[in-house]
Amino acid sequence: MSETPDTTIDLPEPSELLAAHRGALADGRLTFQRCSACQNAWLPPRDRCPRCLADTWAWETASGRATVVSWVVYHRAYHPAFADRVPYNVVLVDLEEGPRMLSTVIGIDGGEGLAIDLPLQAEVGHEGEVPVARFRLAT
Ligand SMILES: [Zn+2]
Repeated sequence: MSETPDTTIDLPEPSELLAAHRGALADGRLTFQRCSACQNAWLPPRDRCPRCLADTWAWETASGRATVVSWVVYHRAYHPAFADRVPYNVVLVDLEEGPRMLSTVIGIDGGEGLAIDLPLQAEVGHEGEVPVARFRLAT
């Protein structure tokens, strides 16, 4: 007897800040926060600057231009929801405005063609109902 694997990914309720970030993504904008005290820019959303701990900051919209910092390629699915995606990449990217984030590069096979400092361009996709920022190789 075969059983259909549960491909549901349980996610915690987003914080107010993450919900705001996702709301902007749903509108097609990749946002990040910039500290009003030291100008540091960061992701993921948090209520204080991770550099100087100031709680004065503002949202900004990223250009979407980014570069590859590092990556891994998964050849094994550690959750049934990813079984039909292997091999897939998980990429650490630097947005040109400064924030560093984890994402994936779509439109390539596994990690084919990935290189440090490779230029990328963000685009909004969805994981189920959740809007997410993904990247493609910049043209
Ligand atoms: Zn700061």
